[in-house]
Amino acid sequence: MATDTITFLGTSDAVPSWERSHASLAVHMAGQSLVLDCGEPCAKNLALACVDFGKIDAILLSHLHPDHVAGLPQVIIGMWLEAKRTRDIPVFMPAEGIETFRKLILATYLFPELIKFNVDFRPLSDGRTFTVGPVQVTPHLTTHLDSIRRIAGNKHGVACEPFLYELAANGKRIAYSGDMGEAADLLAVLDRPLDLLVTECAHFSLPSLLETLRGKPIRRVALTHLHRELWAKKEELPAMAKEYDLADRLVIVHDGMKLEF
Ligand SMILES: [Zn+2]
Repeated sequence: MATDTITFLGTSDAVPSWERSHASLAVHMAGQSLVLDCGEPCAKNLALACVDFGKIDAILLSHLHPDHVAGLPQVIIGMWLEAKRTRDIPVFMPAEGIETFRKLILATYLFPELIKFNVDFRPLSDGRTFTVGPVQVTPHLTTHLDSIRRIAGNKHGVACEPFLYELAANGKRIAYSGDMGEAADLLAVLDRPLDLLVTECAHFSLPSLLETLRGKPIRRVALTHLHRELWAKKEELPAMAKEYDLADRLVIVHDGMKLEF
């Protein structure tokens, strides 16, 4: 069986940085090539990681903050000009953004008549599993945008729905947090063993995350999207994880890092 891998294309928090690109992952699982989030410069980082734009089977967007989606049109350009793709690309995303993103693709002149494939936007639904080949993908709502929704979500007609992702195939199970409001959002995927958990740590404290993960059946935890203050002291974090019995399973990831699972 081919090795399943995850490549961290961008690991920054939302603040522009010379050192880290914005959120994006390339997952190879059960023969499928998936891109999770398209923080910029996603297309450049896919090229750096030697991901074949023609062989990407699906794009999964967690939520619509720019640091997770702003690189999407350039990825479509890569599929067109680099790969000369003719196969439609499904893009799973929160329903609230689909009409706008369809217009964005047309507004940036990426007409299907020109590029020779369709960008096929599909809505997510909390807890409803869909498949990409043999990979079962289940999105779960998080509380990341609750406060923003309260400020003006209704006024501007947006639902403010962010998701985390659970992926399962061939007896393996991994999860990607997207962005969360609190570490407890992860409980939606911690009820069964995980081979790999990729979780952000920019919107709550590291101790609250480690406490949530304490005693849970997770083979490895990859910390990404670290708040810049945590990133600045990343060498100290494994020691902090010791008292939660997580130190030997914790990986602080950086741009370009590749893990097998
Ligand atoms: Zn966000």
